Formats: sequence, structure tokens, C-alpha cells
Amino acid sequence: MLSTKVLCNLVNRTCVVVKKVAVIGSGPAGLAAAAQLNYAGHTVTVFERDEKPGGLLRYGIPDFKLEKWVIDRRVQLMEEEGVQFVCHANVGVNVNVNDLLREYNAIVIATGSTVPRNLEVTGRDADGVHFAMSFLKQQNKRVDGSDPLANAAIESNILPDQLLATGKHVVVIGGGDTGSDCVGTSNRQGARSVTQFELLPQPPASRSEAMPWPTYPMLLKTTTSHEEGCTRQWAVNTKEFIKDENGKLKAIRLVDLEWKASADGRPASFTEVAGSEREIPCDLALLAMGFLHPQFEGLLEQLEIERDERGNVKASEKQYQTSLPKIFAAGDARRGQSLVVWAISEGRECARRVDEFLNNGSSILETKDATILQAFA
Ligand SMILES: Cc1cc2nc3c(=O)[nH]c(=O)nc-3n(C[C@H](O)[C@H](O)[C@H](O)COP(=O)(O)OP(=O)(O)OC[C@H]3O[C@@H](n4cnc5c(N)ncnc54)[C@H](O)[C@@H]3O)c2cc1C
Repeated sequence: MLSTKVLCNLVNRTCVVVKKVAVIGSGPAGLAAAAQLNYAGHTVTVFERDEKPGGLLRYGIPDFKLEKWVIDRRVQLMEEEGVQFVCHANVGVNVNVNDLLREYNAIVIATGSTVPRNLEVTGRDADGVHFAMSFLKQQNKRVDGSDPLANAAIESNILPDQLLATGKHVVVIGGGDTGSDCVGTSNRQGARSVTQFELLPQPPASRSEAMPWPTYPMLLKTTTSHEEGCTRQWAVNTKEFIKDENGKLKAIRLVDLEWKASADGRPASFTEVAGSEREIPCDLALLAMGFLHPQFEGLLEQLEIERDERGNVKASEKQYQTSLPKIFAAGDARRGQSLVVWAISEGRECARRVDEFLNNGSSILETKDATILQAFA
């Protein structure tokens, strides 16, 4: 049974003037924010620079981990509920950000953390060294039946080049989720060999004394992609990409590392093991060492929005409001490279703050702090 107060609030809510909200970016943070703001009664338009909505759910995570019909179904439901999606809309490039500021009552920046960490060693310019996302995005487009090179030019980290692992010795540099997705994709494309480098030593399979409950445990993660076939090299550093006479990558020089632990038992510093330098054959190297921050050029620079010390859009985790009053930020663009669950959570929480901003501090949207009924209690 709804209390009288809840009913009054809901009735009052129907008198609220509908506001227009622009969500920039259609990854999990943008989708979650858009769905909630639409649910709150606002007119929501999602601007996405790529061909289709979904962000890294569609173009980063491979189909063997997340089939894309799941995103299509969700987007279709949102469209039927009234959310408008505008694709090929690169805000700050072919969509003028000042037009959005004029036309919308609030804006949510959910543009992700897209600038990849580079590896500046000798031979980095070899033909055959690429960022992981260039490789993964192309494959996701191929599987989708679209042109793997479409839209490549507008993204600084995507090269207009067909990247395939077929018949190649592939080395994936970086041991996280992105690296693991490169391993699975390389195997599916028929790589000759797949090796994955990790700077850190191999973690234990279960909690050690250095990581007692409830601290976050650094445990060995073996994904289905690893199980499908891959040589994992732990505590190694890349010294050089070795080219042939035509500038093509032919090998990688690596070295073993000896790690010293800090007082709490976690790996803290390393030295190279003398005499351990060696070469392994490689004609495709994929850099999967994480992402630094959102792209500055275009949207963020034009807005002159404040950024935090890591380069992410500055906005508090409680308020999600940026240095510009009607602009909010959520997901990887705000918190840095993270996880899908965090992006969804941030999108929902941010929507609540946007709704409050548009409705003089009141909102019918749930937050982590209050369910819909508590919000009106
Ligand atoms: C390869 C890979 C595998 C991953 N695997 C996992 C996993 O298994 N589990 C997990 O939890 N997390 C995983 N992650 C992390 C997860 O995908 C991200 O944390 C999450 O997608 C972030 O969501 P987001 O909405 O903030 O940003 P994104 O998903 O990055 O979406 C941002 C969107 O904004 C768009 N955009 C950017 N700039 C503009 C602009 N100016 N105008 C219009 N649109 C713009 C982009 O095109 C993109 O669609 C993985 C990440 C990668 C790269």
C-alpha cells in the first residue's frame, strides 16, 4: 500500500515541467542515466559518436563474453519508452557543444576513459604494434557485420588498418580483462601462438597472509580465454620491439624481473634479472595496459571543464556535478577505467542528482541511499 505522502508526491510530480536532458556517450553509464531520467519524466536524447549504442559493451567486450543482442534488446526497449538515440554524433566535433548547452536543461557526460596507456620503448613505431582497443573494436564490428574500419578516423587511438591475428605470433602486453579479451580473440582468428606478458609476479590462487579478509585479494585470475590456450609470462618487462628491414615487427626483446615486497607483502619494486634478456618471435603486439583518462580534445577542452589530478572529469561521487552547474559526469569518464557494474551504478546515481537539479531538490528516483518508497517517506 502506498502512503498518502507517497501518493501526494507522485501527484505533484505529474505537474512538474518536463525538462530536456542530453546524455553524451551510450556505454553502460550513459544508458543507465538515460533510462532513469526518462523514467523520471524528462525528455532524454543520447548522443553517441559511434555507429551503434553500447560503448565498450558493444565495441570493447567481445561477443564470446557478451552477445550484442542483449544490448540491442535494451536499447530497443529504451527507444520504445521514449529515449532518443542519435548515433554518428561526436559532440565537440560534428555536434556543437554550445548548441547542446542552449537546447538542454542538463547534460550528462558519460564518454568513458578512452586514452590508452602507451609503451614507449625502442621500436614502438614498428608495423604490427597496436593498442588492444583498435584490434578488439575491429573484431566486434566484423562479428556484427559492419565495416571494421568505419568511424575509425574520428577516434585518435584507432588506426585505419585491418588488424588480424590469423597465422601470427601474437604477444598481448598487459594481464587484465582487456588483455584476456585479446587472447580469446586472437585464438578465434587462428593465431599461430598467443603469449601474454604481465609485469607483476604470478599472484597466489588463494588468500595469503599478506591479504587477510576483508582486504581486496590480488588472486590469480584464469579466464576462459586463458583456458582456450595461451602462454602466460609473469614478472617480465618489454625492452624492445624488433623490426625487420621493412619496419615490420618480427620479435620482442623481454627481460625477467625480480620483485621486492613492501611491508604488507605486496609487490612494491623490481629490478631486472641480469642475463635474462631474450627474444621471442612476434608479428602482432597488442598493448593492453589500461586507460589513462577520457579524451580531452573536442568536448572536454571546448567546455573548459575542470579535471581531477588523474585527468578524469572532476565531479564528486555523491553529487556527480562538474565545475559547470548544469553538466554532470558518470562512469569511466569520472571515476577512471573501471567495471560495468560501477558504470551502471554511477549512471543511476548521477540521474538522481540531475533529477534533483531539475526539480528544485526533489526526485522520485531510487538511489543507493533510498528506495523509491523511502524517498517519499
Ligand atoms: C576490452 C575491455 C574489456 C572489458 N571487460 C570488462 C568485463 O569483463 N567486465 C567489466 O565489468 N568491465 C569490463 N571492462 C570495463 C567496462 O567495459 C567499462 O568500465 C565500462 O564500459 C565503462 O562504461 P562507460 O559508460 O563509463 O564508458 P564506455 O563504455 O567507454 O562508453 C563511452 C561511450 O561514449 C562515447 N563517446 C565518447 N566521446 C564522445 C563524444 N564526444 N560524443 C559522443 N559520444 C562519445 C564512446 O563512443 C562510447 O560509446 C572492459 C573494458 C575493456 C576496454
